[in-house]
Amino acid sequence: MLQTLKDLATWQDPLNSWLALFLIAGLAVGIASGFFKARKIQPKGFRWKTFRNEAIFAAINLAFSGILLGGMTVAFRSWGWIEYNQEPASWWVMGLEFALYFFLFDTWFYWLHRWMHKEPAYKLVHKLHHFSTSPNLLTTLSVNPLESLINGGFVPLFVAAFTVHQDTMMLIGPTNVIMGFYVHSGYEFFPRWWNRSWATKWFITATFHDQHHKYFNWNFGGYTTIWDRVCGTMRPKFEADYDKIKARTAQPVPVAPDGAAAALAANEVASS
Ligand SMILES: [Zn+2]
Ligand SMILES: [Zn+2]
Repeated sequence: MLQTLKDLATWQDPLNSWLALFLIAGLAVGIASGFFKARKIQPKGFRWKTFRNEAIFAAINLAFSGILLGGMTVAFRSWGWIEYNQEPASWWVMGLEFALYFFLFDTWFYWLHRWMHKEPAYKLVHKLHHFSTSPNLLTTLSVNPLESLINGGFVPLFVAAFTVHQDTMMLIGPTNVIMGFYVHSGYEFFPRWWNRSWATKWFITATFHDQHHKYFNWNFGGYTTIWDRVCGTMRPKFEADYDKIKARTAQPVPVAPDGAAAALAANEVASS
């Protein structure tokens, strides 16, 4: 990873340079074509002042929790508390371990998150993460180091209870990071049918967590909607609002000769 960053910075590896150029070009085309704009969850939500404060808190959190969690990992490993199965794992074993981790972590996260919304835990620990009512990428890291410790505390407990394969842990780490950034991105990239399919509606998307920041006492789940659905804490208008956001990316309505036909076409597009 470090070598890749170095290569990118020094422009040494031609393949990485092409990849970087491709990503930058993709971003530029995306911005120019309105791809991102159409998918913004709260189009007028961004505030520079909040962004600046979050940058400061993110830096503090990274420094503190990096030292704390990093130090704890080294200590736990040397005491033999953290041990992985080094054998190569088959894909279905990895899938099972992965699912077990995310269900248990989601349960841990949901209940502790609900607890952190009550005083005095809210003021002392969780309030800092709620600076943004319209989250952006930095909101992911703008967390009280104590909260990082509470959430991160699940990992040593999990690996102490289950000796999972190292291969699985290599998958879990990046998934955590990508999900964290995605749900705070402020953009909805998932398809329109996501919350209507019985298979996918159990997994949260950016809009789900975005609404937690905007409306506060709903949508506590970090990865799944399971606990929110079971406990009745899912925002009642969440699915309707999701549909509205996705309707913005629908095909433009063809101009019809009379108003009634145009309205009918618009309805059809919105409900398709
Ligand atoms: Zn919260
Ligand atoms: Zn958040």
